Parts: sequence; structure tokens; C-alpha cells
Amino acid sequence: MHPTPHNHPPSLARPLSLPPLLKPQAPQPPQFATTSHLENNTPLRTLFLPSPLRHRFLSLASPQTAQNLETCGILAGTLLQNALFITHLIIPEQTSTPDTCEMTNEASLHTYCDTHDLMVLGWIHTHPSQTCFLSSRDLHTHVWFQMQLPESVAIVCAPSKEPSWGVFRLTDPPGVGVVRACEKPGIFHPHEEGRLFTDALGRPGHVVEYEELRFEVVDLRPMGKGRV
Ligand SMILES: [Zn+2]
Ligand SMILES: [Zn+2]
Repeated sequence: MHPTPHNHPPSLARPLSLPPLLKPQAPQPPQFATTSHLENNTPLRTLFLPSPLRHRFLSLASPQTAQNLETCGILAGTLLQNALFITHLIIPEQTSTPDTCEMTNEASLHTYCDTHDLMVLGWIHTHPSQTCFLSSRDLHTHVWFQMQLPESVAIVCAPSKEPSWGVFRLTDPPGVGVVRACEKPGIFHPHEEGRLFTDALGRPGHVVEYEELRFEVVDLRPMGKGRV
């Protein structure tokens, strides 16, 4: 007697598929290892920085630099295989002086990042006449970036000085805690505690320059032309 479908044991009558949890997993792509840590031992994922980015930023900033005015940009990108890649340099609307630079209309930056699925990975700014370091105001700006993402970096370009550029993060501890707790008045003020920030480029830092990493420049300033 031929078996009819309704006589099949239930396991054979069902389509030959497994419940989702039992499906064979696609092989996981290799993950980048973390080799750097905060001072409190929290691991930091590697952040890949396109080497030509700072040159491009400096050329965009040059009209401002020539007038002794700062320029700032936002570093944005993506997380891939446990590493962070800077893929966009965004120039936000801003106002500046010889030693400060302030984003205005932050909403347009957030809208751009949201619609392009980008993470904010740090910021870059010029010191037209100052040396390459993080001022007290820079420390207060950067602590917000680093609280959002511990790997966030601040790149400073000081084209008239040597060294002419640096990639920094706050130490943690003491930097993040000291700056968060600081309520000193004034844009610029001394912090007594030493070593509030450190170099993040190269070993033992978590930032690696990558010549071939492609990036886009987006100028959100009214005089900018969008993607350039
Ligand atoms: Zn600065
Ligand atoms: Zn302070």
C-alpha cells in the first residue's frame, strides 16, 4: 500500500527546513582584535584614520587659517568587524575666533549622520597660531565625544608649529573624570591635575593611519557646496 501524505510521520510531512535557531550559521567574518586600552583597562577598538584626511581638511580650512581663525570638522564613519573606520569628514556650520571654534546648527549634522547611518567618531580642528595640544576648552568639548564613544578622538592641526598635528583622547582616569567634574568659570582655565590627555596615534594608541581608506568630504556650511 502506498503511503499517502497524511500518513507520513509529522517530521517528514513538514517542509524540510529547520527552525531559525537551528539553521547553520554563516561563517563569521574575522574580527579585528583590540590591542589598546584605556588607563582603567577598558579595551579600545582600533580606529582607522585615512592618512590624506588631514591634508584635505587643511586645504578646506586654509581661507580661515590665513585669517587666523580656527576651523572644525566632524569625523564620522562606521563599525565593521569590531573596528571603527573614519569614512566621512563633515564640515559643520560654525563660528570661530583665533582660538575657538563652535558648531552652530548641530541639528543639520545629526540629520546628515542619521540619514547616512554614520557614527560620530571624533572631531578635527585647526590651531592657526597656537601649538598642537588640547586647550582647556578643547578638553571640555572632547569629553562629550568620549562619553558617547570611548574611542572618539580629537585631531589638532597646528600648521605653523612643529609637531604640526596630533591625535588625542582624554585619559580615563584621570582626564574624563576631572574634566566632567570641572566647574571652573571661563572659556580657558588651568587644570591642576597632570596628564589629562594622551596621544592616541600608533602603538600603544588605538588609532592607525590607513593610506588607502576612502573617505568623503561633506561641507554643511552655507557657503559650502554639499559633498565636495
Ligand atoms: Zn583647540
Ligand atoms: Zn575645566
